[in-house]
Formats: sequence, C-alpha cells, structure tokens
Amino acid sequence: MLAESGATLVALYRAHLLSPSMLAVLGFVAAFTLVAVAIGWRHRVLSALALRNSAVSLATLAVNILMAPVVYVAAGLVAAGYAQLGIPAVPASAWDGAPWLLMAVIGILGKDFADYWCHRALHTPIGWPVHAVHHSDTHVNGFTAFRVHLLEVLTMKVFYIVLLTWMGIPPGAIVAAYVVASLHTAYVHLELDIDHGPLNWLVASPRFHRWHHADVPEAYGKNLANMIPLWDLMFGTYHRHDSCHAPMGATRDGVPDTDAAKLVTLPFTLWWRQGRAALAGRWHRRDLPR
Ligand SMILES: [Zn+2]
Ligand SMILES: [Zn+2]
Repeated sequence: MLAESGATLVALYRAHLLSPSMLAVLGFVAAFTLVAVAIGWRHRVLSALALRNSAVSLATLAVNILMAPVVYVAAGLVAAGYAQLGIPAVPASAWDGAPWLLMAVIGILGKDFADYWCHRALHTPIGWPVHAVHHSDTHVNGFTAFRVHLLEVLTMKVFYIVLLTWMGIPPGAIVAAYVVASLHTAYVHLELDIDHGPLNWLVASPRFHRWHHADVPEAYGKNLANMIPLWDLMFGTYHRHDSCHAPMGATRDGVPDTDAAKLVTLPFTLWWRQGRAALAGRWHRRDLPR
C-alpha cells in the first residue's frame, strides 16, 4: 500500500515536472535570458535585483512543485463536488467534428475569460493576500510567472477547469490552451519594452502587463487580462499600455520582495491582520488599496 502510494506520488511529480507547459515556459525564459545576455543586455536581465528576485520566484516554484499533489487532490475534489451539483453542461459530443484549431481557440478564449474574473477576484480584500505574492516581485521578468502562491494556483485551476468542462471542451484542447496561456504569461513578464500596435486590444503585451505590476495607485487593479485586453475594455478595468517606468512590486503595502519564507505564509499573515483589524473595528477597504 505504502509502495503503491509512493509510486503514485513519483508518477504525479514526474508528470508535473515534465508537463508540456512547465518545459515550454522554463525553456522559453532560459532561452530569452541567454539571448538577452548575448546581445549585451546583461545589466538589464542579470542585475543584482534581477538575480535576487529571480531566485525567490524559483524558490516559490520549488515550493509549488513540492506541494503539487495537494493541488491535484484538491482540484479533483472540487471537480467531483461540482459534478455532484448536476449543473447542466454542454455535452462533449456537441463539438464532434469541429476542427482542432477552432477547439484550441475556443479553449483559449474560455480560459482567458475565466482567468480575467479569477484575477479580478484576487484583487479584492479577500483575494489580495494570496495574489500579493505574485505582485511582490520588484524586478518583473519571465520567472515572475512562477511567483504564484499555491492557493492562487489552485483557485485559477478550479476557475478555468470548471468553465471549460462546463463548455464540454475536450481535454486535449484544454491542455493546448494551457500551454499557449503559460507561454504567453511568461512572455508578458519579460523585460521587453514593447506593445502590439493595432493588436493591443487583442493580445496583451509586456508593456500592458508591466502597468499591472506598477506600484502606483492609479494602476492598482487595472490591466487584469492575462491574454486578451478586450476583457478590460469591456468591463472597465483598462488602464494603459505605453512604456512603463513606474516602480514594480507591492512594497508600499509592506509586502516583502525577496523573502521566500515570508511569501509562503503571506496570505495567512495578511488575513490574520485583516481579521484582527476587523474585530477591533479598524478595518477599511482602503487598508488594502489593490
Ligand atoms: Zn494582479
Ligand atoms: Zn504578472
């Protein structure tokens, strides 16, 4: 029994570490860093601040990898609970004969819509303590894509899996959507000062997402879309996408940028502070400006 559980755990870790999205993103960010150094951007991508923050982002990834089985089990329980509710869904057969590319595009659209609303929920007083971990990076780069608290990984997964399974999207198209979204997430965090001109409303650029990480009040809770800024334009959270030279991070809120251990416990620390302030009648929405 013990040996069986051990083998399952090893299989789970292997599948997670060798998953297409993990390999694609790590390879992509590593390749970008190598090219950046080769073309003389060493001061930009390998500064002391960049190295310190990248190390903490990778430490967060290591914690998440270690805890991956918890996410799989919890996501499975939520999916089973959702199935129990018997909510009518689009049958998978409705997509029979649909071209594979169309399925992948619908999968990306559905996932990005779910991600937008999940991200919006993470910028509320209850969600912010979890999401502050992602915003803690004071040198945003490709590795920031991995600086996500375990509770956020779980929340995001539940949001889009529930939506895509409700839509009857085949598992292959869900994986394709996930790989494309993961690569794009790494791309928008790169130290590139570029946008997409006439396609800015359709595909988020590094400039667009840099504003999301800007530690300036007018940008808080803005530019929330992962891939498709159209959601921000539609739902009133669009800010701007020009060159961003504002400071990154959330240090104004006292969120540490390079203390990996404190970031693991950050959601609980902030919820505890919120709870105590609420009990003392001192809590205000403005205490959490995001
Ligand atoms: Zn955010
Ligand atoms: Zn980000």
